[in-house]
Amino acid sequence: MKNHQIKCEHCFEWVSAKYETCENCGKTLRAKEKSEALNPNKKRDPLKPDLIQIYEHDKPIIQVGKHILRTGQIILYAIIGFLVWITTWAVG
Ligand SMILES: [Zn+2]
Repeated sequence: MKNHQIKCEHCFEWVSAKYETCENCGKTLRAKEKSEALNPNKKRDPLKPDLIQIYEHDKPIIQVGKHILRTGQIILYAIIGFLVWITTWAVG
């Protein structure tokens, strides 16, 4: 390879990475990378439980595993929430 080339995510052509836009279709290259770099973790809500993130680029088996873990997490948080509610109710 003479130049560093990247694959355009819009038209899937190999284009020179030195340009901001695709030489073939004219769309912005590496748009996804940039938006992720700008907001690494979109202002997290502290009240919301930290659920496992499932990414599109994960392998299907990983996604299935994560879905199972996440369901487990949601059930766990539901139980904790219920216990907290019971405790508050019993005390008050
Ligand atoms: Zn393109």
